[in-house]
Amino acid sequence: MRIKLLLIISFNTLILMAQENISSQVKPDHDVIIANGKSIGLWFVGHGSLMIKFDDYVVHIDPVSEMGNYNLMPGADLILISHHHSDHLDLKAIKLIEKDNTKIIANALSVDRVPDAVVMKNGDTLHEGPLTIEAVPAYNLKHKNSMGNPFHPKGEGNGYIISFEGKRIYIAGDTENIPEMAYIKNIDIAFLPMNLPYTMTPEMVAEAVGMIKPVILYPYHYGSTNTDLLLPLVDSTETEIRIRDLK
Ligand code: ZN
Ligand code: ZN
Repeated sequence: MRIKLLLIISFNTLILMAQENISSQVKPDHDVIIANGKSIGLWFVGHGSLMIKFDDYVVHIDPVSEMGNYNLMPGADLILISHHHSDHLDLKAIKLIEKDNTKIIANALSVDRVPDAVVMKNGDTLHEGPLTIEAVPAYNLKHKNSMGNPFHPKGEGNGYIISFEGKRIYIAGDTENIPEMAYIKNIDIAFLPMNLPYTMTPEMVAEAVGMIKPVILYPYHYGSTNTDLLLPLVDSTETEIRIRDLK
């Protein structure tokens, strides 16, 4: 009897340990921003993959299974796909977080693989759940592949600006510091990519920040770039730089 009880207790302990382990995997790191008394939870999955909880409304951005354990993350009310490259579009991750009523928004070139996605083109705006979403340009001007073509041609991919309760979050996608950024205003939180050869150097990110002037900047999609190089380049009285594990 006593042995049986002990076994039950240790089995429960094991379950508890497993659950704790799970929560530390699900929640690598996150920040909370308050918007009109409601919370915005920013979860840093890795590279270009983010999860943002607007109150209880769950948005996964560019979910990729290599970047985190999507088995353990909450299902998506909305999935945003910036473009069709494999470090942004991954059907395996989408399957793991898709619910019956999940909406998917993507660029046109992702639709072959995600036929139920709603396409947004650069310049489009739509309302979804508690959010307003704008698709904005994301492309290379300078960095090109060996054939002389930009890694991200103009018009193919999207960045997204998400508005919720007066806060505006800009998730830039794979882009350089393009002139259209001069028209991206009133941004509270910006995610800007910082790796070569596909996106920006720290100097280019600093130029982008000079145009957008976000309140908070998270460099993301930064690979092996030394994030320390960015710090002296940005006016910290205007923009707070937050470095998170988004290699
Ligand atoms: Zn890309
Ligand atoms: Zn990428």
